[in-house]
Amino acid sequence: MKTIGLLGGMSWESTTDYYRLINTLVKQQLGGLHSAKIVLYSVDFAEIETLQQQGNWQQAAQLLTEAAVNIEKASADFLVICTNTMHIVAEQIQQNINIPLIHIADATGEALLEKNIKTVGLLGTAFTMEKEFYKGRLTNNYGLNVIIPNEQDRQQVHQIIYHELCVGSIKPESKQTYLAIIDKLVAEGAEAIILGCTEIGMLIKQQDTKVPLFDTTSIHAERAVKLALT
Ligand code: GLU
Repeated sequence: MKTIGLLGGMSWESTTDYYRLINTLVKQQLGGLHSAKIVLYSVDFAEIETLQQQGNWQQAAQLLTEAAVNIEKASADFLVICTNTMHIVAEQIQQNINIPLIHIADATGEALLEKNIKTVGLLGTAFTMEKEFYKGRLTNNYGLNVIIPNEQDRQQVHQIIYHELCVGSIKPESKQTYLAIIDKLVAEGAEAIILGCTEIGMLIKQQDTKVPLFDTTSIHAERAVKLALT
């Protein structure tokens, strides 16, 4: 079994989901007392969030690169960054390590292609929904037509992530807000919705809606386990 390197803490609420999902899948596949080999480096999310707000991606890249180098030194075979947003600096990180980085948008793009989805709605932080590093990758590498919510809805989605989900607060009214936004994306032609923030799965589950959901946390964790076991 290969050792999975997790760069987490963004937020730790979703990192615990990665840890639990990865171990559950390894247990399911290998049985008995088997569990995943994991190196986890968990950052202080307050530091990262400050840099995000300042748009200081260079310093954020430096901080996460240091963490990734330590993960490699601790003998991980590959790297999983447990957040969609911070893949904004994935290239800089990859340039400074020798182990492969398993990009969350690639795992998601491939999962969508497998289900023959062509037009998809994207929910995530404002950075993920608005900047090209994520949407562009899905469009250019996987031919997907990516729809995002309108500006007001994007702000709501973003605020709920930082003020509620990342601090472990799950509110029924926020769930309704998200479901209404999902309905609008479906009305605009989305055949499926990417939960493109690793905390959204805490709020919205597949049973809440008819439209297929692609939860990036599960997809990324599954990809990591597949790689670890082959
Ligand atoms: N975990 C979130 C994501 O997947 C948001 C937190 C962050 O900004 O990293 O994008």
